[in-house]
Amino acid sequence: MDKIFQKAVPILEQIEDAGFQAFFVGGSVRDYLLQREINDVDIASSATPSEIKTIFAKTVDVGIEHGTVMVLHERAGYEITTFRTEGNYTDFRRPDSVQFIRSLQEDLKRRDFTMNAMAMDKNGQIIDPFLGKKAIEGKLIVTVGNPDERFREDALRMMRGLRFVSQLSFDLDGQTLQSLKNNGALLENIAVERIYAEFEKLLKGKNRKKAFHLLSESGLYKFLPGFKSLGKTLEILQTLNIEKLDDPVELWVLLLVIGNIEDTEAFLRIWKMPVKQIREIGRLRFHVEKGTDFTEDKMALFHSGLNEAAKVTKIIAVLDHFNGNEAEWKVKEAFHRLPIHSLKELAVDGNDLVAWFAQRPGPWVKEEMELILSAVLREDVINRKTDIKGWLELCNRI
Ligand code: ATP
Ligand code: MG
Repeated sequence: MDKIFQKAVPILEQIEDAGFQAFFVGGSVRDYLLQREINDVDIASSATPSEIKTIFAKTVDVGIEHGTVMVLHERAGYEITTFRTEGNYTDFRRPDSVQFIRSLQEDLKRRDFTMNAMAMDKNGQIIDPFLGKKAIEGKLIVTVGNPDERFREDALRMMRGLRFVSQLSFDLDGQTLQSLKNNGALLENIAVERIYAEFEKLLKGKNRKKAFHLLSESGLYKFLPGFKSLGKTLEILQTLNIEKLDDPVELWVLLLVIGNIEDTEAFLRIWKMPVKQIREIGRLRFHVEKGTDFTEDKMALFHSGLNEAAKVTKIIAVLDHFNGNEAEWKVKEAFHRLPIHSLKELAVDGNDLVAWFAQRPGPWVKEEMELILSAVLREDVINRKTDIKGWLELCNRI
Protein backbone atom coordinates (compact mmCIF):
# COMPACT_ATOMS: atom_id res chain seq x y z
CA MET A 1 0.00 0.00 0.00
CA ASP A 2 1.12 3.53 -0.71
CA LYS A 3 2.81 5.50 2.11
CA ILE A 4 0.11 8.12 2.05
CA PHE A 5 -2.55 5.47 2.81
CA GLN A 6 -0.37 3.81 5.39
CA LYS A 7 -0.15 7.02 7.34
CA ALA A 8 -3.95 7.10 7.49
CA VAL A 9 -4.51 3.42 8.40
CA PRO A 10 -4.59 4.22 12.17
CA ILE A 11 -7.64 6.41 11.47
CA LEU A 12 -9.50 3.50 9.86
CA GLU A 13 -8.46 1.28 12.78
CA GLN A 14 -9.68 3.75 15.37
CA ILE A 15 -13.08 3.97 13.65
CA GLU A 16 -13.29 0.19 13.42
CA ASP A 17 -12.32 -0.20 17.08
CA ALA A 18 -15.30 1.99 17.91
CA GLY A 19 -17.50 -0.51 16.08
CA PHE A 20 -17.97 1.20 12.70
CA GLN A 21 -16.74 0.61 9.16
CA ALA A 22 -14.23 2.85 7.39
CA PHE A 23 -12.63 2.75 3.95
CA PHE A 24 -10.50 4.78 1.62
CA VAL A 25 -12.70 5.90 -1.28
CA GLY A 26 -12.95 7.98 -4.41
CA GLY A 27 -10.13 9.65 -6.32
CA SER A 28 -7.35 8.37 -4.07
CA VAL A 29 -8.20 4.70 -4.72
CA ARG A 30 -8.51 5.41 -8.44
CA ASP A 31 -5.15 7.22 -8.56
CA TYR A 32 -3.52 4.45 -6.51
CA LEU A 33 -4.58 1.83 -9.08
CA LEU A 34 -3.40 4.14 -11.85
CA GLN A 35 -0.11 4.67 -10.06
CA ARG A 36 -0.70 8.39 -10.25
CA GLU A 37 0.39 10.79 -7.56
CA ILE A 38 -2.21 10.89 -4.79
CA ASN A 39 -3.12 14.32 -3.47
CA ASP A 40 -5.39 13.58 -0.57
CA VAL A 41 -6.99 10.42 0.73
CA ASP A 42 -10.74 10.53 1.25
CA ILE A 43 -12.28 8.30 3.88
CA ALA A 44 -15.88 7.10 4.03
CA SER A 45 -17.40 5.63 7.15
CA SER A 46 -20.61 4.14 8.50
CA ALA A 47 -20.20 6.40 11.55
CA THR A 48 -22.25 9.60 11.51
CA PRO A 49 -20.47 12.94 11.91
CA SER A 50 -21.37 13.13 15.59
CA GLU A 51 -20.10 9.58 16.12
CA ILE A 52 -16.82 10.50 14.38
CA LYS A 53 -16.50 13.46 16.72
CA THR A 54 -16.75 11.24 19.76
CA ILE A 55 -14.03 8.93 18.39
CA PHE A 56 -11.36 11.58 17.68
CA ALA A 57 -9.97 14.28 19.92
CA LYS A 58 -9.24 16.82 17.19
CA THR A 59 -11.91 17.38 14.53
CA VAL A 60 -13.05 20.29 12.40
CA ASP A 61 -16.55 20.70 11.00
CA VAL A 62 -15.81 21.28 7.33
CA GLY A 63 -19.09 20.20 5.78
CA ILE A 64 -21.12 18.63 8.49
CA GLU A 65 -24.39 19.10 6.59
CA HIS A 66 -23.06 16.82 3.83
CA GLY A 67 -21.70 14.45 6.44
CA THR A 68 -18.04 15.48 6.29
CA VAL A 69 -15.83 15.98 9.32
CA MET A 70 -12.10 16.60 9.21
CA VAL A 71 -9.88 14.64 11.55
CA LEU A 72 -6.40 15.93 12.37
CA HIS A 73 -3.80 13.20 12.56
CA GLU A 74 -0.04 13.62 12.58
CA ARG A 75 -0.25 17.17 11.26
CA ALA A 76 -2.44 16.20 8.30
CA GLY A 77 -6.19 16.67 7.85
CA TYR A 78 -8.41 13.80 6.68
CA GLU A 79 -11.95 14.29 5.48
CA ILE A 80 -14.23 11.57 6.74
CA THR A 81 -17.61 11.43 5.03
CA THR A 82 -20.49 9.38 6.34
CA PHE A 83 -21.92 6.80 3.89
CA ARG A 84 -24.89 8.49 2.32
CA THR A 85 -27.45 8.29 -0.41
CA GLU A 86 -28.91 11.25 -2.14
CA GLY A 87 -32.63 11.92 -2.43
CA ASN A 88 -34.37 13.06 -5.59
CA TYR A 89 -32.79 15.63 -7.84
CA THR A 90 -35.39 18.04 -9.10
CA ASP A 91 -33.03 20.77 -10.28
CA PHE A 92 -30.34 18.77 -12.14
CA ARG A 93 -27.63 19.73 -9.66
CA ARG A 94 -28.28 19.16 -5.98
CA PRO A 95 -30.08 16.38 -4.22
CA ASP A 96 -33.23 17.50 -2.42
CA SER A 97 -32.00 15.64 0.64
CA VAL A 98 -29.00 13.68 1.86
CA GLN A 99 -29.47 10.60 3.96
CA PHE A 100 -26.82 8.97 6.12
CA ILE A 101 -26.75 5.20 5.72
CA ARG A 102 -24.74 2.28 7.04
CA SER A 103 -24.04 0.57 3.70
CA LEU A 104 -20.80 1.13 1.78
CA GLN A 105 -22.30 -0.33 -1.37
CA GLU A 106 -25.10 2.24 -1.42
CA ASP A 107 -22.58 5.03 -0.87
CA LEU A 108 -20.47 3.85 -3.82
CA LYS A 109 -23.58 3.70 -5.97
CA ARG A 110 -24.21 7.46 -5.72
CA ARG A 111 -20.75 8.25 -7.11
CA ASP A 112 -20.24 9.51 -10.64
CA PHE A 113 -17.99 7.08 -12.51
CA THR A 114 -17.12 3.45 -11.87
CA MET A 115 -13.42 4.32 -11.49
CA ASN A 116 -14.43 6.71 -8.69
CA ALA A 117 -16.78 4.22 -7.04
CA MET A 118 -14.25 1.86 -5.47
CA ALA A 119 -13.18 1.52 -1.86
CA MET A 120 -10.09 0.10 -0.18
CA ASP A 121 -9.92 -1.31 3.32
CA LYS A 122 -7.07 -1.01 5.81
CA ASN A 123 -5.37 -4.12 4.39
CA GLY A 124 -5.33 -2.78 0.84
CA GLN A 125 -8.25 -4.97 -0.26
CA ILE A 126 -10.23 -3.30 -3.05
CA ILE A 127 -14.03 -3.28 -2.93
CA ASP A 128 -15.26 -2.81 -6.46
CA PRO A 129 -18.96 -3.59 -6.96
CA PHE A 130 -19.26 -1.59 -10.22
CA LEU A 131 -16.17 -2.94 -11.99
CA GLY A 132 -14.15 0.24 -11.72
CA LYS A 133 -10.91 -1.70 -12.00
CA LYS A 134 -11.98 -3.15 -15.33
CA ALA A 135 -12.86 0.34 -16.58
CA ILE A 136 -9.44 1.58 -15.52
CA GLU A 137 -7.76 -1.31 -17.33
CA GLY A 138 -9.75 -0.45 -20.46
CA LYS A 139 -9.07 3.27 -19.91
CA LEU A 140 -12.78 3.97 -19.98
CA ILE A 141 -14.95 6.47 -18.19
CA VAL A 142 -18.24 4.77 -17.42
CA THR A 143 -21.06 6.16 -15.29
CA VAL A 144 -22.32 4.15 -12.34
CA GLY A 145 -25.67 3.07 -13.74
CA ASN A 146 -27.60 4.75 -16.53
CA PRO A 147 -25.74 7.84 -17.79
CA ASP A 148 -28.91 9.74 -18.74
CA GLU A 149 -30.19 9.35 -15.19
CA ARG A 150 -26.87 10.18 -13.60
CA PHE A 151 -26.36 13.33 -15.71
CA ARG A 152 -29.94 14.39 -15.05
CA GLU A 153 -29.24 14.13 -11.33
CA ASP A 154 -26.14 16.29 -11.57
CA ALA A 155 -25.18 17.74 -14.94
CA LEU A 156 -21.73 18.73 -13.69
CA ARG A 157 -20.79 15.06 -14.06
CA MET A 158 -20.60 15.63 -17.83
CA MET A 159 -17.85 18.19 -17.31
CA ARG A 160 -16.17 15.96 -14.76
CA GLY A 161 -16.14 13.20 -17.37
CA LEU A 162 -14.35 15.42 -19.87
CA ARG A 163 -11.84 16.68 -17.36
CA PHE A 164 -10.97 13.09 -16.53
CA VAL A 165 -10.53 12.45 -20.27
CA SER A 166 -8.01 15.28 -20.26
CA GLN A 167 -6.25 14.28 -17.03
CA LEU A 168 -6.12 10.52 -17.54
CA SER A 169 -6.19 10.22 -21.35
CA PHE A 170 -9.16 7.87 -21.00
CA ASP A 171 -12.05 7.52 -23.46
CA LEU A 172 -15.72 8.01 -22.70
CA ASP A 173 -17.60 4.76 -22.88
CA GLY A 174 -19.99 4.71 -25.86
CA GLN A 175 -23.21 5.02 -23.91
CA THR A 176 -21.76 7.75 -21.71
CA LEU A 177 -20.71 9.74 -24.79
CA GLN A 178 -24.13 9.31 -26.37
CA SER A 179 -25.71 10.58 -23.19
CA LEU A 180 -23.43 13.63 -23.22
CA LYS A 181 -24.74 14.39 -26.71
CA ASN A 182 -28.33 14.15 -25.50
CA ASN A 183 -28.05 16.05 -22.24
CA GLY A 184 -25.71 18.98 -22.86
CA ALA A 185 -28.41 21.57 -22.23
CA LEU A 186 -28.67 20.42 -18.61
CA LEU A 187 -25.35 22.13 -17.99
CA GLU A 188 -27.25 25.41 -17.96
CA ASN A 189 -28.56 24.48 -14.50
CA ILE A 190 -25.08 24.34 -13.02
CA ALA A 191 -23.38 27.20 -11.19
CA VAL A 192 -20.63 28.76 -13.31
CA GLU A 193 -18.13 28.39 -10.45
CA ARG A 194 -18.49 24.61 -10.52
CA ILE A 195 -18.15 24.45 -14.31
CA TYR A 196 -15.14 26.75 -14.16
CA ALA A 197 -13.38 24.55 -11.58
CA GLU A 198 -13.76 21.48 -13.80
CA PHE A 199 -12.88 23.37 -16.99
CA GLU A 200 -9.63 24.64 -15.46
CA LYS A 201 -8.69 21.05 -14.58
CA LEU A 202 -9.54 20.07 -18.15
CA LEU A 203 -7.25 22.82 -19.47
CA LYS A 204 -4.43 21.66 -17.20
CA GLY A 205 -4.79 18.01 -18.19
CA LYS A 206 -2.25 16.38 -20.51
CA ASN A 207 -4.83 15.25 -23.04
CA ARG A 208 -6.77 18.50 -23.37
CA LYS A 209 -6.84 17.95 -27.13
CA LYS A 210 -8.94 14.83 -26.72
CA ALA A 211 -11.20 16.67 -24.29
CA PHE A 212 -11.64 19.53 -26.78
CA HIS A 213 -12.45 16.98 -29.45
CA LEU A 214 -15.15 15.45 -27.27
CA LEU A 215 -16.48 18.87 -26.28
CA SER A 216 -16.94 19.52 -30.02
CA GLU A 217 -18.22 16.09 -30.94
CA SER A 218 -20.77 15.97 -28.15
CA GLY A 219 -21.89 19.56 -28.68
CA LEU A 220 -21.47 20.13 -24.93
CA TYR A 221 -19.37 23.22 -25.64
CA LYS A 222 -22.51 25.12 -26.71
CA PHE A 223 -23.65 25.14 -23.12
CA LEU A 224 -20.43 26.48 -21.66
CA PRO A 225 -20.67 30.16 -20.69
CA GLY A 226 -20.17 32.32 -23.80
CA PHE A 227 -19.15 29.36 -25.99
CA LYS A 228 -22.21 29.05 -28.23
CA SER A 229 -20.42 30.31 -31.35
CA LEU A 230 -16.98 28.91 -30.55
CA GLY A 231 -17.36 25.56 -32.35
CA LYS A 232 -14.95 26.53 -35.12
CA THR A 233 -12.49 27.93 -32.58
CA LEU A 234 -12.43 24.63 -30.72
CA GLU A 235 -11.76 22.84 -33.97
CA ILE A 236 -8.86 25.12 -34.82
CA LEU A 237 -7.45 24.63 -31.32
CA GLN A 238 -7.30 20.90 -31.99
CA THR A 239 -5.00 21.48 -34.95
CA LEU A 240 -2.46 23.35 -32.84
CA ASN A 241 0.33 22.00 -30.69
CA ILE A 242 -1.48 22.94 -27.48
CA GLU A 243 0.31 20.25 -25.47
CA LYS A 244 3.20 22.71 -25.40
CA LEU A 245 1.31 25.03 -23.10
CA ASP A 246 1.23 24.42 -19.39
CA ASP A 247 -0.67 27.26 -17.78
CA PRO A 248 -4.44 27.48 -18.40
CA VAL A 249 -4.14 31.25 -18.96
CA GLU A 250 -2.24 30.47 -22.15
CA LEU A 251 -5.16 28.43 -23.45
CA TRP A 252 -7.63 31.14 -22.53
CA VAL A 253 -5.55 33.58 -24.58
CA LEU A 254 -5.62 31.24 -27.58
CA LEU A 255 -9.39 30.87 -27.25
CA LEU A 256 -9.87 34.63 -27.15
CA VAL A 257 -7.52 35.30 -30.05
CA ILE A 258 -8.76 32.54 -32.34
CA GLY A 259 -12.38 33.12 -31.36
CA ASN A 260 -11.89 36.80 -32.11
CA ILE A 261 -13.73 37.63 -28.92
CA GLU A 262 -14.14 41.35 -28.74
CA ASP A 263 -14.18 42.08 -25.03
CA THR A 264 -11.72 39.96 -23.04
CA GLU A 265 -12.87 41.18 -19.67
CA ALA A 266 -16.61 40.84 -20.34
CA PHE A 267 -16.12 37.29 -21.64
CA LEU A 268 -14.01 36.13 -18.73
CA ARG A 269 -16.29 37.79 -16.21
CA ILE A 270 -19.12 35.50 -17.32
CA TRP A 271 -16.84 32.68 -16.16
CA LYS A 272 -16.42 34.42 -12.78
CA MET A 273 -12.70 34.20 -13.19
CA PRO A 274 -10.55 35.95 -10.54
CA VAL A 275 -9.85 39.56 -11.57
CA LYS A 276 -6.09 39.08 -11.26
CA GLN A 277 -6.21 36.28 -13.83
CA ILE A 278 -8.47 38.28 -16.15
CA ARG A 279 -5.89 41.10 -16.11
CA GLU A 280 -3.03 38.74 -16.87
CA ILE A 281 -4.92 37.20 -19.77
CA GLY A 282 -5.66 40.71 -21.08
CA ARG A 283 -1.96 41.65 -20.99
CA LEU A 284 -0.88 38.39 -22.65
CA ARG A 285 -3.51 38.76 -25.37
CA PHE A 286 -2.34 42.31 -26.10
CA HIS A 287 1.22 41.17 -26.77
CA VAL A 288 0.18 38.04 -28.67
CA GLU A 289 -1.96 40.07 -31.06
CA LYS A 290 0.73 42.71 -31.41
CA GLY A 291 3.30 39.98 -32.03
CA THR A 292 5.72 41.56 -29.55
CA ASP A 293 9.28 40.31 -30.01
CA PHE A 294 10.69 40.60 -26.51
CA THR A 295 14.26 40.13 -27.66
CA GLU A 296 13.89 43.43 -29.55
CA ASP A 297 11.47 45.38 -27.36
CA LYS A 298 13.38 45.75 -24.11
CA MET A 299 10.78 48.06 -22.58
CA ALA A 300 8.06 45.48 -23.14
CA LEU A 301 10.32 42.78 -21.71
CA PHE A 302 11.06 44.88 -18.64
CA HIS A 303 7.41 45.73 -18.00
CA SER A 304 6.07 42.24 -18.72
CA GLY A 305 8.72 40.39 -16.75
CA LEU A 306 10.20 37.04 -17.76
CA ASN A 307 7.21 34.94 -16.76
CA GLU A 308 4.67 36.71 -18.96
CA ALA A 309 7.12 37.35 -21.82
CA ALA A 310 7.87 33.62 -21.93
CA LYS A 311 4.16 32.80 -21.99
CA VAL A 312 3.52 35.23 -24.86
CA THR A 313 6.44 33.79 -26.80
CA LYS A 314 5.14 30.27 -26.29
CA ILE A 315 1.59 31.19 -27.35
CA ILE A 316 2.84 32.91 -30.52
CA ALA A 317 4.91 29.82 -31.38
CA VAL A 318 1.86 27.58 -30.96
CA LEU A 319 -0.30 29.89 -33.09
CA ASP A 320 2.32 30.10 -35.83
CA HIS A 321 3.11 26.37 -35.79
CA PHE A 322 6.76 26.55 -34.87
CA ASN A 323 8.78 25.05 -32.07
CA GLY A 324 9.10 27.89 -29.60
CA ASN A 325 11.89 26.43 -27.47
CA GLU A 326 14.60 28.48 -29.06
CA ALA A 327 12.54 31.68 -29.05
CA GLU A 328 11.75 31.15 -25.38
CA TRP A 329 15.38 30.53 -24.57
CA LYS A 330 16.35 33.76 -26.36
CA VAL A 331 13.77 35.73 -24.38
CA LYS A 332 15.20 34.27 -21.18
CA GLU A 333 18.69 35.33 -22.24
CA ALA A 334 17.50 38.80 -23.19
CA PHE A 335 15.81 39.16 -19.82
CA HIS A 336 18.89 38.16 -17.86
CA ARG A 337 20.95 40.56 -19.96
CA LEU A 338 18.73 43.55 -19.11
CA PRO A 339 20.86 46.05 -17.16
CA ILE A 340 18.13 46.40 -14.54
CA HIS A 341 15.03 44.41 -13.64
CA SER A 342 13.07 46.82 -11.49
CA LEU A 343 12.57 50.56 -11.32
CA LYS A 344 14.17 50.57 -7.89
CA GLU A 345 17.44 49.65 -9.54
CA LEU A 346 17.43 52.77 -11.70
CA ALA A 347 20.26 55.05 -10.50
CA VAL A 348 18.06 58.17 -10.54
CA ASP A 349 14.71 58.89 -8.96
CA GLY A 350 12.03 61.56 -9.16
CA ASN A 351 13.87 63.82 -6.70
CA ASP A 352 16.97 63.89 -8.89
CA LEU A 353 14.86 64.91 -11.89
CA VAL A 354 13.03 67.66 -9.98
CA ALA A 355 16.41 69.06 -8.90
CA TRP A 356 18.05 68.78 -12.35
CA PHE A 357 15.09 70.14 -14.31
CA ALA A 358 14.40 72.79 -11.64
CA GLN A 359 10.69 72.21 -12.16
CA ARG A 360 7.88 71.44 -9.78
CA PRO A 361 6.93 67.76 -9.60
CA GLY A 362 4.20 66.74 -12.06
CA PRO A 363 3.29 64.11 -14.63
CA TRP A 364 6.38 65.05 -16.60
CA VAL A 365 8.54 63.24 -14.02
CA LYS A 366 7.06 59.89 -14.97
CA GLU A 367 7.54 60.61 -18.67
CA GLU A 368 11.20 61.51 -18.19
CA MET A 369 11.74 58.43 -16.06
CA GLU A 370 10.32 56.23 -18.84
CA LEU A 371 12.66 57.91 -21.32
CA ILE A 372 15.65 57.29 -19.08
CA LEU A 373 14.55 53.75 -18.37
CA SER A 374 14.26 53.05 -22.08
CA ALA A 375 17.75 54.47 -22.72
CA VAL A 376 19.23 52.42 -19.87
CA LEU A 377 17.55 49.24 -21.14
CA ARG A 378 18.83 49.86 -24.66
CA GLU A 379 22.24 50.51 -23.11
CA ASP A 380 22.41 53.96 -24.68
CA VAL A 381 23.51 55.15 -21.28
CA ILE A 382 25.10 53.45 -18.27
CA ASN A 383 22.89 53.17 -15.22
CA ARG A 384 24.94 55.62 -13.13
CA LYS A 385 23.79 58.99 -11.84
CA THR A 386 26.56 61.03 -13.47
CA ASP A 387 26.15 59.20 -16.80
CA ILE A 388 22.41 59.70 -16.87
CA LYS A 389 22.77 63.39 -16.06
CA GLY A 390 25.34 63.71 -18.84
CA TRP A 391 23.06 61.89 -21.25
CA LEU A 392 20.15 64.22 -20.41
CA GLU A 393 22.41 67.22 -21.08
CA LEU A 394 23.58 65.69 -24.34
CA CYS A 395 19.95 65.28 -25.40
CA ASN A 396 19.38 68.92 -24.50
CA ARG A 397 16.74 67.95 -21.99
CA ILE A 398 18.41 69.84 -19.13
P1 ATP B 1 -9.40 14.76 -7.87
O1 ATP B 1 -8.22 13.85 -7.86
O2 ATP B 1 -9.31 15.77 -8.93
O3 ATP B 1 -9.72 15.34 -6.51
P2 ATP B 1 -11.70 13.14 -7.37
O4 ATP B 1 -12.29 11.99 -8.11
O5 ATP B 1 -11.13 12.86 -6.01
O6 ATP B 1 -10.63 13.82 -8.29
P3 ATP B 1 -13.40 14.98 -6.03
O7 ATP B 1 -14.14 16.15 -6.56
O8 ATP B 1 -12.34 15.19 -5.01
O9 ATP B 1 -12.82 14.22 -7.29
O10 ATP B 1 -14.51 13.97 -5.48
C1 ATP B 1 -14.20 12.86 -4.66
C2 ATP B 1 -15.13 11.70 -5.01
O11 ATP B 1 -16.49 12.08 -4.78
C3 ATP B 1 -15.10 11.25 -6.47
O12 ATP B 1 -14.05 10.36 -6.71
C4 ATP B 1 -16.47 10.64 -6.64
O13 ATP B 1 -16.51 9.36 -6.09
C5 ATP B 1 -17.33 11.54 -5.78
N1 ATP B 1 -17.91 12.67 -6.54
C6 ATP B 1 -17.39 13.91 -6.67
N2 ATP B 1 -18.20 14.71 -7.38
C7 ATP B 1 -19.27 13.96 -7.71
C8 ATP B 1 -20.47 14.21 -8.43
N3 ATP B 1 -20.70 15.40 -8.99
N4 ATP B 1 -21.36 13.19 -8.54
C9 ATP B 1 -21.12 11.99 -7.97
N5 ATP B 1 -20.02 11.70 -7.29
C10 ATP B 1 -19.09 12.66 -7.15
MG1 MG C 1 -10.35 14.40 -4.63
